[in-house]
Amino acid sequence: SLPGVALHSLTGGLCHDKLTLTLQGARVLVTGASTGIGEQMAYHYARFGAQLVITARREKVLQQVVEKCLSLGAQKALYIAGDMATESDPDKVVEFTLEKLGGLDYLVLNHIGPTPFSVWKGDIEHTRWLMKVNFFSYVQMAWKALPSLEQSKGSLVIVSSLLGKMAGPFTAPYTATKFALNGFFGSLQHELAMKNSNVSLSICTLGLIDTDSAMEKVRGVIDVPAAPASEAALNIIKTGATRQEELYYPWNTFAVTLTKDWIPFATNYIIRHAYNYIP
Ligand code: NDP
Repeated sequence: SLPGVALHSLTGGLCHDKLTLTLQGARVLVTGASTGIGEQMAYHYARFGAQLVITARREKVLQQVVEKCLSLGAQKALYIAGDMATESDPDKVVEFTLEKLGGLDYLVLNHIGPTPFSVWKGDIEHTRWLMKVNFFSYVQMAWKALPSLEQSKGSLVIVSSLLGKMAGPFTAPYTATKFALNGFFGSLQHELAMKNSNVSLSICTLGLIDTDSAMEKVRGVIDVPAAPASEAALNIIKTGATRQEELYYPWNTFAVTLTKDWIPFATNYIIRHAYNYIP
């Protein structure tokens, strides 16, 4: 098995070198980068020597992430605090990035607002708010950044979820926002391809990832293995850098998207019996 291991590490090494070539000096904006997958993406981009702007609401945490990015090798690392539920901040964050980095090569839209993991009890205000944070701000930032991405032959990366392809219980508002993202950016993907745009658009479908916010919700409720946030982050970055239209991470999320259409009854049965839930 040794040659196999060697070959694996060799291709891994080449891949890493190629990525460094692609990402060194690249101008990147990552949203939702104060914690979780976004924070891990910031560290990976930093290791590749990118020029970074990160954003989220909590200034103090962003400051710490920026410091770590600089120590990991980022050519530049800046933050701007912003609330994606407001009408002005999505534009402001993109404008700040364009001004400070002189353009943009990667726009990675990743943030999500906190949402309860519970039975839908009619909280329409929360659903409206979550739609602003998880969906409308993505549309607004993408629109604002597109001219610059067109100029730089850049990439737009949307972090979505298996719950953007298939509904699950206890997450109705969140699931709605992810379906909206997949619908909107799926449509935009066609349009960009049909007009031979310079911009690549990647939609990333993630399964359960071991971030604090996700683990807090599912602990004791569902027993599904969670994939590591750092690896999820690296896979998202590779997907953007190689201009692929889709990522499924971990791999079994792809299998689930197939079985839900091929054998819907069995898939629904499994979903409904996977949770510890007593009505
Ligand atoms: P986290 O909850 O760890 O991070 C969310 C980020 O969004 C934080 O940086 C938070 O920072 C920021 N944020 C929250 N509200 C706002 C707001 N109003 N305005 C601006 N920023 C805000 O999320 P994960 O890392 O777990 O998830 C990242 C992405 O991966 C999401 O798109 C998620 O849907 C997707 N995903 C995650 C899965 C998982 O199991 N973890 C599974 C499938 C998909 P702050 O509080 O400082 O604003």
